[in-house]
Amino acid sequence: MNKGTELIHNGHETDPLTGALGVTIYQTSTFLRKDISKGPGSQEFDYSRGGHPTRQALEEIIATLEGGAKGYAFGSGMAAISSVLGLLSAGDHVIAAEEVYGGSIFILNNFYKRMGIETTLVDSGNPANIRAAIRPNTRALYLETPSNPLLKITDLAACLAIAREAGLLSIVDNTFMTPYLQQPIKLGADIVVHSATKFLGGHSDVVLGLAVTRTEELGEKLHVVQNSFGAIPGPWDEWLVIRGIKTLKVRLETQQSSAQQIAEWLLTHKNVSNVYYPGLSGHPGREIHQGQASGPGAMLSFKTKTVEQALRFYEKVQLAAAAPSLGGVETIASRPVTMSNIATSAADRERLGITDTLIRLAIGLEGAEDLIADFDQALA
Ligand SMILES: *Cc1c(COP(=O)(O)O)cnc(C)c1O
Repeated sequence: MNKGTELIHNGHETDPLTGALGVTIYQTSTFLRKDISKGPGSQEFDYSRGGHPTRQALEEIIATLEGGAKGYAFGSGMAAISSVLGLLSAGDHVIAAEEVYGGSIFILNNFYKRMGIETTLVDSGNPANIRAAIRPNTRALYLETPSNPLLKITDLAACLAIAREAGLLSIVDNTFMTPYLQQPIKLGADIVVHSATKFLGGHSDVVLGLAVTRTEELGEKLHVVQNSFGAIPGPWDEWLVIRGIKTLKVRLETQQSSAQQIAEWLLTHKNVSNVYYPGLSGHPGREIHQGQASGPGAMLSFKTKTVEQALRFYEKVQLAAAAPSLGGVETIASRPVTMSNIATSAADRERLGITDTLIRLAIGLEGAEDLIADFDQALA
């Protein structure tokens, strides 16, 4: 089925009880035990941490969209990611791409390291680096493409094949692309994670995370973590994401088309030294990206020639909010060195090219020509 159709028709068009168009918000923490002589497994819903109808609708929708067996919702993207990593055990080793979301590297290198799980960060741009990092105790591979904030491309099929061959649990953060543009499970991933705070919610008004497993069996394991850690979202936030997903196609298509125009315009600006966007013909790995995703997305980054020009841009820009986050209807200009990459060491930032002149844009739904005129005055 066409992805746009699936965003609307995914088994949750109507409330089975009333025929209402859309999913109902069940504001409840618990459910009547129908047969008190039996345990919680005797009925579908028992206590909301373990299962809840509004959450279940969202979980089924994201599983359908990602082409996986089971979906799970969490209180934030980080709650989803930490719960997925809760599948690992002390003594396990993880290989992660060095340019995954800063928060993911932070929990691996801090909390999970303390729990006896070691992580090796690699440049996933070359799949051979993953093969070279595999140890006897390696259990998982953690990827994200395009990367944050430099939009580096990882060849998912090649890296996931290495993971499969070595028996690793493969996890892909698909926040930037969403299932509308890229479906990592179809390329071999075991688990896909999302910050639904971003494009899926789409309106900068909710924090929520999602995870989808390739198999039922892996889903059952993740459900135990979800129910035990209890990092679940509330029904209102679940409903907001269900609602947001319905308009994902029109938002992303428009944002992506504006991002392409803006990236091409930035390339010609005299105060801009570099532009990073998978839709540009010179972008490294563009062919690989085109082979695994149906569009370049709405995230782009660029570097000004001087730090002063970058700082002035955030000060003078009118139509972009100088803020963290992305994927909303409003354009957001983030500063990676003081936001998403605050936990990255200065040496690593230098090595990766995450400089003080780097500006990350999440393009919103404003008119592209208005954004270009505004960016032009802010860069002057
Ligand atoms: C924001 C983000 C996260 C973390 O999600 P939260 O909802 O903020 O907890 C994880 N991965 C990516 C790529 C993100 O952009």
